[in-house]
Amino acid sequence: MTTSPYRSLPSVDRLLADARLQDLVGVYGSARVTERARRALDDARSAIAGGGVAPQAEAIAELVAQALTADLRSPLRPVINATGVIIHTNLGRAPLSAAAIEAMRLVAQGYSNLEYDLEAGERGSRHSHIERLITELTGAEAAMVVNNNASALLLGLSAIATGKEVVVSRGQAVEIGGGFRIPDVLRQSGARLVEVGTTNRTYLADYENALTPETAAVLRVHSSNFRIVGFTHEVAVAELIELAARRGVFMLDDVGSGCLLPTQTYGLAPEPLVQDSVAAGASLVFFSGDKLLGGPQAGIVVGKRAQVDLLKRHPLARAVRIDKLSLAALAATVQHYLRNEATTEVPVWRMISTPAEAVGLRAERWATAIGDGAHILEVRSMIGGGSLPEESLPSYAVVLDGTALPGSAELLAAQLRTGNPAVVARIERDRLLLDPRTVQPGEDEALIGRVREVLRQ
Ligand SMILES: *Cc1c(COP(=O)(O)O)cnc(C)c1O
Repeated sequence: MTTSPYRSLPSVDRLLADARLQDLVGVYGSARVTERARRALDDARSAIAGGGVAPQAEAIAELVAQALTADLRSPLRPVINATGVIIHTNLGRAPLSAAAIEAMRLVAQGYSNLEYDLEAGERGSRHSHIERLITELTGAEAAMVVNNNASALLLGLSAIATGKEVVVSRGQAVEIGGGFRIPDVLRQSGARLVEVGTTNRTYLADYENALTPETAAVLRVHSSNFRIVGFTHEVAVAELIELAARRGVFMLDDVGSGCLLPTQTYGLAPEPLVQDSVAAGASLVFFSGDKLLGGPQAGIVVGKRAQVDLLKRHPLARAVRIDKLSLAALAATVQHYLRNEATTEVPVWRMISTPAEAVGLRAERWATAIGDGAHILEVRSMIGGGSLPEESLPSYAVVLDGTALPGSAELLAAQLRTGNPAVVARIERDRLLLDPRTVQPGEDEALIGRVREVLRQ
């Protein structure tokens, strides 16, 4: 006679008698531990129903203990980015400068003058702290900062174009990423999208013919994550600004990444500069804080005072407002540019401006320390993160040769990802590459130690 496997499962009480779970009851209280134990037993019953064997009480207790301890670990963990992709949206975009981190820490640990005018002893504005710095940096009359660039665009279009038309080139009615689509944002703002031109070619006359008394603005969207090549034509921002001014509509420019330094200096294609759009006379220019600007997540709008004021007064402004920590970090980041020290202090620009030879020397040091046949290879580091698609910098990486190792490159990459510290590498042609360009100074020893550990296994 066979006994039902369900009958061999322990009772909740018996599970809770386990010494490890008794300790955890002391930490979490018995309700949480009991709840977890019930769930573990339910899982065990499902496993049996699916044809599995009944787990031992010991094993179930261990699972409960693991699940409870995992709840208390920080879900957001630091990751060593050895992919060579500088602005990696999945890995949190721009790392912050030491000064930006310190500014956040100071504001986080106590009270601040966030919305308090210390001179006057009365209520102040959170925008006042950052507006002067940003206008100084970009040459704009006025500035406003919100939660991110997507919300900046939504706010801008809502304040300027609700119930009216916005003219966009068909080649620029794009998806930015994560399902964020320009036509959807326009619809959400209550504006009507008027697409002009074709996917690959749009001329000034296309815009001109589309302008009606219903038109509120012409919108340009920088193609930050793709490139149309070949038989193409786009209208220059300056021409759009001239047309908009002549016809009495606004010119809105979403430059995307918020680049303030010429990328050509580093052999990259030119990325539109915020200050160029401002100087050309755009009504509003929109950009992110955590792409090429190299600061915290933020959406920055600069431009004419009258239009920026419309955004500040709009009811949505409160819904998309920036928090004090980001504000502190953004101010510190902008100050690096004002002090002319962005290429040494802002991590994104430090990575971009590091010469390939310097990366190569670091890679050589890593390869020697790792041993096991690790060697260096000439590669390209990507800018990434919705900036400069197709653009890359000459670099060097350490190669851990997949074929020379017991597992495949994928297996090795998975072990590095899931270990402590988590290391994210790049796989190219079945080889695992570690690009030092995106690894922060001070992370070398931890990375080398972890790679050696994995290779030993
Ligand atoms: C990245 C990007 C956005 C969205 O910016 P977030 O700061 O991620 O919200 C909008 N427009 C363009 C052109 C972009 O490149």
